[in-house]
Amino acid sequence: MNSSPPLSGAAVYADVIVARPARGLDRPFTYRVPPALQPHVVAGAVVEVPFRGGSLVGYVIDLHADAPSSLAEDAIRDVLQVRSPREFWGEDLLGAAGWMQYYYGCLMVEALNAIIPEPVRAGLWRKRPARGAPARTRVVALTDNGPDPEPLLRALDGDGPQARRVLDALRRHGHLPASELLNLAHARTETIHHLRDAGLVKYRMVAPDQLSAWHDPLKGTSALGSTERPDLTPAQREAVDRILALRAQGKAAAVLLHGVTGSGKTEVYLRVLEAVTEAGGTAVVLVPEISLTPQAVHRYRTRLGEKVAVLHSGLTDAERHEQWWSLRRGGMAVALGARSCVFAPFDRPSVLVVDEEHDSSYKQDSSPRYHARQVAIRRALQGNGVVVLGSATPSLESYHWAREGRYHLLELGERVEGRPLPEVEIVDLRRFGRGRPVALGAVLRERMREALAAGGQVMLLMNRRGFSSYLMCTDCGHMERCPRCDISLTVHAAPECLRCHYCLFEKGHMAVCPGCTGVSLQYFGSGTQRVEEELLGAFPGISLARMDADTTRRPGDHLRLLEKFGRGEIQVLLGTQMIAKGHDFPGVTLVGVVLADTALNLPDFRAAERTFSLLVQVSGRAGRGARPGRVVVQTYNPDNPAVLLAARQDYKAFFDLELGHRRELSYPPFVHLVNVVFASEDEAAAQAAAHSLAAGILPEARALGAGWLGPAPCAIPRLHRKYRWHLTFKANKVQEIVPLIRKFLAAGIPAGVAVTIDADPMSML
Ligand code: ADP
Ligand code: ZN
Repeated sequence: MNSSPPLSGAAVYADVIVARPARGLDRPFTYRVPPALQPHVVAGAVVEVPFRGGSLVGYVIDLHADAPSSLAEDAIRDVLQVRSPREFWGEDLLGAAGWMQYYYGCLMVEALNAIIPEPVRAGLWRKRPARGAPARTRVVALTDNGPDPEPLLRALDGDGPQARRVLDALRRHGHLPASELLNLAHARTETIHHLRDAGLVKYRMVAPDQLSAWHDPLKGTSALGSTERPDLTPAQREAVDRILALRAQGKAAAVLLHGVTGSGKTEVYLRVLEAVTEAGGTAVVLVPEISLTPQAVHRYRTRLGEKVAVLHSGLTDAERHEQWWSLRRGGMAVALGARSCVFAPFDRPSVLVVDEEHDSSYKQDSSPRYHARQVAIRRALQGNGVVVLGSATPSLESYHWAREGRYHLLELGERVEGRPLPEVEIVDLRRFGRGRPVALGAVLRERMREALAAGGQVMLLMNRRGFSSYLMCTDCGHMERCPRCDISLTVHAAPECLRCHYCLFEKGHMAVCPGCTGVSLQYFGSGTQRVEEELLGAFPGISLARMDADTTRRPGDHLRLLEKFGRGEIQVLLGTQMIAKGHDFPGVTLVGVVLADTALNLPDFRAAERTFSLLVQVSGRAGRGARPGRVVVQTYNPDNPAVLLAARQDYKAFFDLELGHRRELSYPPFVHLVNVVFASEDEAAAQAAAHSLAAGILPEARALGAGWLGPAPCAIPRLHRKYRWHLTFKANKVQEIVPLIRKFLAAGIPAGVAVTIDADPMSML
């Protein structure tokens, strides 16, 4: 009789996000999966699909057995081809991408693209590797069914241990490029040749995605810090135990580890990571890019071994590709890196550490504008992991949520080994009054002289060059602020005025200071300070290095500078906030802050928080070794609470005070801000677009209980030849307001106007 049709013919449909970023295409398209491809098409696969007249690559985000009722069966087309050898991500990452689309208002394809590094994607997008694609690499591999190595190892005599290490390394890592193999096994090239001649190993060419896990991004670095395993202090012990107990419960949890600078937070992470990886788990560790010093990486590597993959901006495309695949294949247990490392391709990592969680570099400033801390929390929720947020100066948001019981709060109140926190002197610059502001006051010079004479090293924090200018009185430190928003007013030249860039409040220029009726109002914030020249004049012959955006253009520049400083080859390191972050240089006995006011006067509601954190962090660089440290802070606002409380390192007092302000003025953590920026070469068009969004959605926003600021010109009113206007919402829930904005934008944006949505912005300039 007639044979029955093959049973495997059951239809399967795939929801695909096509790799073409456009608001109009920001939804899944459904395709049929032909039976032959069914075994390979899983959620997370990359496929090629027909699209309009041509074809596109896309991500499969879901599979189902039924055709969507909205589509006629014959309108559904077939998946053409599978591009990825396996699924690209596990569920927790896919979940995080969906959340980013929804929360940050980005396109789904942007969220998915963020998850897969560009070099990895590039390999799949192209049909044939184009020029510039990662090339095949020559590696050394064990031969299949090679002879017994023992006779050769004995014959090699003194070189036998080297050969044994080479074979061991290959057994552990599979094939390796010769240079890495030699590093790893401490062996010479001849040893490989002997092994090859004996038929034990051979050379092969492999594609980048087959390169083995081992890759040392720290080749050739030295001068690394101590790596011993100290006995934990009781506070550290308790923190480690509590985190591991949460992990043992197997449920999602978040921990805020608040520990003063030098209290041994990193040691806590290391112990947790040791325990988790020994139990077969995986972990993601995020540090601010600038903290990825060889010193810090070395600490993780020596303690956790070769199972640590390091992702940083200094990697070449081929290296990044290789690291990613080694993580994806499961060869590594820990991924250490900056912001984008939060997308490390593990399936449901056991632990995610976000060190220096307050750091603003965790927020990406292009779409998707995600905050790595929030994505880490999201991943933990999706995959039952434990997130550990660590900082000496937690963000107001995180500490607030910890106090409210959403995060477990663990505190390390003292420095290890009873080391004192540094002594902070506040120097009142108003005494110098009238005339050109000085960079180095008498006290700072004297303290530098003392520190250098005693063989200590000095870090000087210079302020970032201004992006906008402000007016401050050098007699009394007075600053004009917006009466409604409490942020500093920005100086505008045309028309001449001082303006609040949140709410458009405006007032005229002043000649007389409203604070002291003096006439010493000065412009600050633009133009480089002449600190370097003054320093060289005052201390001829010292070895001095400047670290700022100009001296660290190339990837790795700042690491090289910090490393030199760590080796003691530089006496004075002069730098922007880059130098404030988590470094551990025991030789530093003096930290100087040239002008605290620049941070204080940022036109941003987080100015006080930023100042407090910057001062505490930079002070924390002093006295980390055996010798105690000193700090000198120069300011025109010696009575400002952020400055005073930072000098006392009193986080809790600062938190309570600042939280009160935030509550009063409805700022985060009491509301979520969503900033929408309109940019256009035509100022009227940018302004009109901002107003049309306001007119379009304010009634609905109001009904949700949301408030807003603006529309107003941005603090940086013109950038890259485009005029910029913004509208800022204050919402109870981001998830309520962002969909309204997206819906409005999907209906069409005027030509020539670029719109960006920024949920929970870290900067609104
Ligand atoms: P944090 O991350 O809190 O700034 P670190 O973990 O870098 O602090 O620790 C500061 C210094 O103290 C480091 O040099 C570290 O090796 C050392 N250290 C940490 N824990 C201990 C301990 N229990 N006993 C002795 N030294 C420790
Ligand atoms: Zn205002």
